[in-house]
Amino acid sequence: MFTSINPATGQETARHPADDAAAVEAKIAAAAKGFRRWRTTAIGERTALLSRIADAFEANRAELARTAVEEMGKTNKSALAEVAKCVAGFRYYAEHGPAFLESSEVATPGGKAIAQWHPIGPVLAIMPWNFPYWQVVRFMAPAILAGNVGLLKHASITQGCAALIERMAREAGAPEGVFQNLAIPSSAVGALIADPRIAAVTLTGSEGAGVKVAEAAGRALKKVVLELGGSDPFIVMPSADIAKAAETAVTARLQNAGQSCICAKRFIVHADVYDAFADAFAAGMRAAHVGDPMDDATILGPLSSIEQRDTVVEQVEKALAAGATPLLRAEPIDRPGAWMTPGILTDVPPDSDVAREEIFGPVALLFKVSDLDAAITLANDVPFGLGASVWTNAADERARFERDIEAGMIAVNQMLASTPQAPFGGVKRSGHGRELGPWGLHEFMNLKAVMLT
Ligand code: NDP
Repeated sequence: MFTSINPATGQETARHPADDAAAVEAKIAAAAKGFRRWRTTAIGERTALLSRIADAFEANRAELARTAVEEMGKTNKSALAEVAKCVAGFRYYAEHGPAFLESSEVATPGGKAIAQWHPIGPVLAIMPWNFPYWQVVRFMAPAILAGNVGLLKHASITQGCAALIERMAREAGAPEGVFQNLAIPSSAVGALIADPRIAAVTLTGSEGAGVKVAEAAGRALKKVVLELGGSDPFIVMPSADIAKAAETAVTARLQNAGQSCICAKRFIVHADVYDAFADAFAAGMRAAHVGDPMDDATILGPLSSIEQRDTVVEQVEKALAAGATPLLRAEPIDRPGAWMTPGILTDVPPDSDVAREEIFGPVALLFKVSDLDAAITLANDVPFGLGASVWTNAADERARFERDIEAGMIAVNQMLASTPQAPFGGVKRSGHGRELGPWGLHEFMNLKAVMLT
C-alpha cells in the first residue's frame, strides 16, 4: 500500500494498493503482447492516440493539478502550467513525429544504404515526484510515437498522479499494453530491468538511484537514459541587465519550491556587480510569498515531504558549520507539513561538501568572482553538468560560456527551462542520453541500415 501525504498539512489524503507479483507479471506480459501489435501500426494511428491523450490531459487539467498539489505540494498555478506543458508535449510529437521517423539514404560503395527508424520494445520508466506529469510525458509521448510501449514505475509519493496518467491513456483509447502503470516499490525495479521482455530503461531521479539502475541495465546490456541531479550555475557578468538577472534568479531558485533538477542553485556573480545583484536578489527572495499552494499569490508552498525539507535544513546547517554566512536565513516553519523559508548563503567554501551537492530546496549559494575565468572554473567545480544560466551582453563572454561550461544545456540571459523542441539532458554525474525533440525519440529506437545495390 502506498500512502499519499499532503505536505501542506502533514495529513494522509489517499492510499493506493501496490501491485503484487502476479499483477506485475500480467502487466509485463500485456506490454510484450501489446508491443507485437503496436510496432506494426501506421504512424497515423500513433499520432491520433497522442492527440487524444493531449485532449484527455486538457479536459482533466483541474483534477490532475489538484492531485499533484495534494501529493507533492507544488502550487496549483504551477501544476496547471505543468499539465499545459504535457498537452504541448503530446501535440508536439503528434505533429512533428512523422518527419522525425523518416528514413534517410546514403551512398555506399555497393549502392546505397537506407537508415530506417524502428521501435525496440517495452520501455521501463522510473520517474520522480517533482514534475509528476511532465517527467513521465517526456518518455511516454516519444515511446508511443516510436511504436514502443511504456511501463511506468513512478515515485512512491505520487502514486495518485501515476494512476491518473494511466487513466488518461485508457480514456484516450490506448490499446491494451501500450501504456501501463506499475504500482511497485523501487526494490522491484532490478528484477524488471533483468526481464528479457523489457527492452530499455529510462530514469529521472537522484544520483544514487542512477547508479543502481545503470548497474542493473549494464548487467542486462540494456540501453539506459539517465537524467539525474544538477547544481546549475547562474552566472552574472557586469554587462548583463542586473535588475532582470536578480528578478529571474528568484524564480530560477524558487520554482517548484526549489525542487527541479534545473533550478539555478549556485549564483556566481562578478565582483563589479555583486553588491547590486545580491541586494536585489535578497530583496526578491525575502518578498517571496510563502503560503497555501492553492492560492495563486503563493510563490513558495511546502516542500514535497517532511524528509525532503529536513534534508535541505540539514544541508543549511552543514554549510553554516563549514563557515557559510546566511544573507537570508532558511529555516523550518513551525507548523504541520513540510514548510520552510527561503534562504541565501554566502562564503560557502567551494570545496565543502555542501557546495558540491545538489540542494533540492529553496536555498541559494551566492559566490563572488573576480573575472570570467574564475566564474567558469567555479561553475565547473562540481560533479554535475546539467544546465547553466549565463547573463552577459558581451559576445566574447557568451562564446566562452558556450564552449567551456560543462553542461548539457545553457540558457543565455534567461532562466533555463525544458521545452518539447530542444534536447534535454546532462553530462558528468548528471547522467547521459537526451530527452525531448527528435533526440529523445531516437534514444529508444533501432536505427536499422538496409543495404541495397
Ligand atoms: P529518488 O532518486 O530516490 O527517486 C526517483 C525515482 O527513482 C523514484 O521513482 C524512486 O522510487 C526510484 N528509485 C529510488 N531508488 C531506486 C533504486 N535503488 N532502484 C530503482 N529505482 C529507484 O529521489 P528521492 O525522491 O529520494 O529524492 C532524493 C534526491 O534526489 C533529491 O533531493 C534530489 O536531489 C534528487 N532528485 C532529482 C530529481 C531530478 O529531477 N533530477 C527528481 C527527484 C529527486 P521510490 O519513490 O519508490 O523510492
